[in-house]
Amino acid sequence: SYRMLASPVQEQDAVTGIMVLLLDVTEQEHREQLRREFTSNVSHEMKTPLTAIHAIAGMLVQDVIEPKDVKKFAGDIYRESARMIALVNDTLRLSRMDENGIAEPKEPVDLYDLAEEVIARLRVTAEKKQVAFSLAGTHVTVNGVYSMLEEMIYNLCDNAVKYNKEQGTVTVSVLTAGKEGILMVQDTGIGIPQEDQSRIFERFYRVDKSHSRAIGGTGLGLSIVKHGAAYHNAQVQVSSKPGEGSTFTVIFPETLQA
Ligand code: ADP
Repeated sequence: SYRMLASPVQEQDAVTGIMVLLLDVTEQEHREQLRREFTSNVSHEMKTPLTAIHAIAGMLVQDVIEPKDVKKFAGDIYRESARMIALVNDTLRLSRMDENGIAEPKEPVDLYDLAEEVIARLRVTAEKKQVAFSLAGTHVTVNGVYSMLEEMIYNLCDNAVKYNKEQGTVTVSVLTAGKEGILMVQDTGIGIPQEDQSRIFERFYRVDKSHSRAIGGTGLGLSIVKHGAAYHNAQVQVSSKPGEGSTFTVIFPETLQA
């Protein structure tokens, strides 16, 4: 869609013409629509835990909770508020990423080194679940925003642990194929049904709401990955078999000489 600006062109006192400016506002409108949808999604997602906390607080105020049940309700408040914190954190990360893309310059980033750091950060979480990480491939340098790339790899690896089975494995590979740089995160987890594979990158989309909730997911992780990939003109692909595992592949159009 277009916005039209028109103004008369005057010479001395006579109008000799009209200057017309057509602005393409499609992209801008699209962004605004996404922002509106996002705000409405966030509000909706926040409402559930907040309503639960509010209801419990109401019962406490009215003194209608049996002493033996206090601990159970305290647990509910603890879990629901943890969920709200996760939502706020992810929302902040997403908006910070929007800003970082503008504020932080692109620089040469070694994907292999970055993957190594991310794996180190996730080691304790992985060990709790007895999930083993391995890193394969070579040093591949891309021109990118460090914090964005870090966030993308973190989210993919975090999911690969979260949706894995006990004693599963996660293999991260960094390689080149012609001009392209490739980062692959493979897991031996629960997998993703075919019909959900195209939707998991949407904000707040979760395959199994109750399962994802139980392990603390917000449904924003992969939308952050997609956003970051788009910023680097990279593509994200998923292939998965329920019960066997998933592979997420990020393909960067070109690499730099290290
Ligand atoms: P969440 O915070 O719920 O993990 P994401 O945006 O990161 O949100 O992922 C969206 C959904 O995609 C998850 O809820 C989960 O159902 C599915 N998913 C993501 N990564 C994996 C994976 N490695 N294995 C299986 N399912 C996954």
